[in-house]
Amino acid sequence: MKNYKPKNRLTSKAYIDGILNGDRVILSRAITIIESNLVGDKILAKEIVQAILPSSGKSIRIGITGVPGVGKSTFIEVFGLYLVKQGHKVAILSIDPSSQRSRGSILGDKTRMEELAVLQEAYIRPSASGDTLGGVSNKTGETMLLCEAAGYDVILIETVGVGQSETAVHGMTDFFLLLMLAGAGDELQGIKKGIMEMADMVVINKADGDNIRMSQMAKLQYQNALHIFPQSDSGWSPVVSTASAIKNIGISNVWDEILKFKKLVDENGYFLKNRNHQQIKWMYNNINDELKQLFYGSKNIKNQLYTFEKEIMNAKISPVKAAQQIMEDFKKSF
Ligand code: GDP
Repeated sequence: MKNYKPKNRLTSKAYIDGILNGDRVILSRAITIIESNLVGDKILAKEIVQAILPSSGKSIRIGITGVPGVGKSTFIEVFGLYLVKQGHKVAILSIDPSSQRSRGSILGDKTRMEELAVLQEAYIRPSASGDTLGGVSNKTGETMLLCEAAGYDVILIETVGVGQSETAVHGMTDFFLLLMLAGAGDELQGIKKGIMEMADMVVINKADGDNIRMSQMAKLQYQNALHIFPQSDSGWSPVVSTASAIKNIGISNVWDEILKFKKLVDENGYFLKNRNHQQIKWMYNNINDELKQLFYGSKNIKNQLYTFEKEIMNAKISPVKAAQQIMEDFKKSF
């Protein structure tokens, strides 16, 4: 970890005041601090997050997932425009742990959400990069708090729909929306049963033109599939609908369902219970991430791992014995 202080940093007070005043430039600069791995920035980030915490949380947090090509960007743009028209301030964040490896090719190459991006009431921030999903999602979580403190009352967190990132998004949102396509099997769409099970709503997108009939059929199929799952703790029964992001059909219906959900979980106490539960989990995620960094970031450990890898390959030591020895040495360093 490098430990120098970049010249262009403001005081923590300047960041905090700027965020609370809804200053988008300061918000962006503060998020850069959150995303930074510099030691000085980490300290500054903690100060900022701690100070804005009482002003955060007053939003509805919506996770949106679906395979690449299902229409997430298109949907989020029309959905975001609709919400802004309804008087909301919308922040769009993404979790994409692959972005560092692929240099952002999944999300970065196309011009995304052009109409929404220019609106003052919308704030779009692509994924933070990082080596671990835990690290990326911790940063996204803190970014979300900053956006809330800056006055954004609807937070959309998008994931590219590969690997474990859906679970991470589910773990930090109130409502989980799954975008699907008609005619492509679940397997083809890479949507595992566990992800379907997390969904509060499934939207069959691209229900337009020749695809309308297929989409209606898919809707029935998914309705049946969702009924098989046990009732969620929220007391909400997941709904399935069709939409066309391109033709702007079925968009307001999605928001209506989210409002119905919010009313239910406010009344039955699940909203708060779930948020509290998520906070506790978030603490453990942070601890796990810090522990990993402490361990794998140590020069001594790196050297030992290098040596043991070679010894394992030459059958000089068993993997279990090697792990045990490294852990013994690590414990001694405390
Ligand atoms: P993402 O990869 O999930 O973000 O998907 P995009 O939003 O980039 O959309 C992928 C492709 O599907 C693009 O060519 C879109 O124009 C198209 N698309 C998105 N939504 C719809 C829709 O509702 N109907 C149709 N026919 N095409 C759509």
